[in-house]
Formats: sequence, C-alpha cells, structure tokens
Amino acid sequence: MNIFITICLFILGLVFGSFFFVVASRLPINEDITKTHSHCENCKATLKWYELIPVFSYIFLRGKCHHCHTKISILYPLIELSTGILFAVSYLLYNFDYQFFISIALSSLLILIFISDFKYFIILDSPLVISIIIILGTYLYFFDIKYVLLHILYGLFIFIFLLFIKFLGDKLFKRESLGGGDIKLGFVIGLTLGIPLGCVALVLSAFLALPYALTSLYLNEERELPFGPFMIAATVIVFIYMVKFNYLIDFLTF
Ligand SMILES: [Zn+2]
Repeated sequence: MNIFITICLFILGLVFGSFFFVVASRLPINEDITKTHSHCENCKATLKWYELIPVFSYIFLRGKCHHCHTKISILYPLIELSTGILFAVSYLLYNFDYQFFISIALSSLLILIFISDFKYFIILDSPLVISIIIILGTYLYFFDIKYVLLHILYGLFIFIFLLFIKFLGDKLFKRESLGGGDIKLGFVIGLTLGIPLGCVALVLSAFLALPYALTSLYLNEERELPFGPFMIAATVIVFIYMVKFNYLIDFLTF
C-alpha cells in the first residue's frame, strides 16, 4: 500500500465525481455536456474555476451560490466525496490487481446510476457501454479470450433471466415491472460476478430496495420505483465480499 497513490486516487475520484454529477444530471435531459458551461441551477450564472473545485468550493462558498446566494445541494460534495472514497478503497483492497479496474468501473456506475435513476428514473446507456468495455479490456489484459467469452456468457445469462422476469412481471402486474436499463445492468452483474454470485446480488438488491419500496407504499406515492441503484449497490457489495460469498456458496453446496 502506498499513501501517495491512495491520495492521488482519492483526488482523481473527487474530480470524476464532479464530472459524473454533470453527466448524470445533464444527459437525461439532453443538455450538451461539452457546450454548456457549468452554471448555477437557479440564476444560470457561469461558474468560475474556483467555484468548480470538488468539495473545497462547497466549503469555501459555505454551500451557497456566489452570485444569487441560493443554497447549493449537499449532494454535490457528497457525490464527489463518495467517488473519491470508492476510488481510494478500490486501490487499498486490490492494489493494481485486475479487481481494481473492475472496482473502479463498478464504483463509477454506482455513482452515475444513483444520480440518474433517482432523479430521472433512467439508466444511461453510455456509462454502461464504457464500463463494459473497461471490464472486458481488463479481462483480456489479465486473462485470455476464453475467460472473456465465458464471462460474456454469464452476463447474457443474467440478462436473459431478467428479461424473463420482466416478461412475467409485466403480465402479472399489467405495468412495467423492470426497466430496460435494469436488464442491461443485469449483463454487467453476470459479467463481473458470474451466475451464482450474480443471483446472490439480485436477491440482495431486492432486500435493499424493500425498505424504500415499503416507505413509498406507506406514503402512498404513485410514482415508479428506481431499482437500478439497489442492483448496482448490491453488485458492489457482493463484489467486495466475493471471496467470502464464494466460501458461503461452497459451504452450501459442499
Ligand atoms: Zn446562483
């Protein structure tokens, strides 16, 4: 373990977190991420460089817009900090082993899906495609083409399984049960966890979503429930504890 690398990855995570926030809150409403400058959501004032430093700007501006003094969402620094922590922890857990790169891809998806799915009920295609490319590239670099193809099959298995669940759910509840994004995310789950652990992640995600679903039922909210954030959170948890979960599966199946 190297303190310097850990700090560098933490800072890199802060910057990426800031970028993820822009991507996940602009792409779903078709706002161009390259042409539009970062601006205050209230007064539309263009932000200067010192207002765009992750976490520090928020503290320095005391959580308010410099121009119109509207409160800035606490989500900004929280998202940035979470990404920084996830990037640093990925290194502390795996060094620069192949799991590190998978962990970075999964952490980035976690952040992006949390923002876009809770805010707009959408899982963007581009982050899914980019993470799949990173994961496949990592497999190809550290293993061989056989390993890659096998894991693509695992991904397809979970993908088709979820498609089947959606088909049943739609018939049963006469409304959309699983979104297209959730099913595509299933491919990433199979690709990174394999079939038995992928199923563990799916069950875990249902458990994680339960308190949220019950609360929104209790509050009589008629809106749809985002399932993506719980799926990716469960995937990250199972991925981190993969070794332990494997012991459990070996124990259960002798
Ligand atoms: Zn403002």
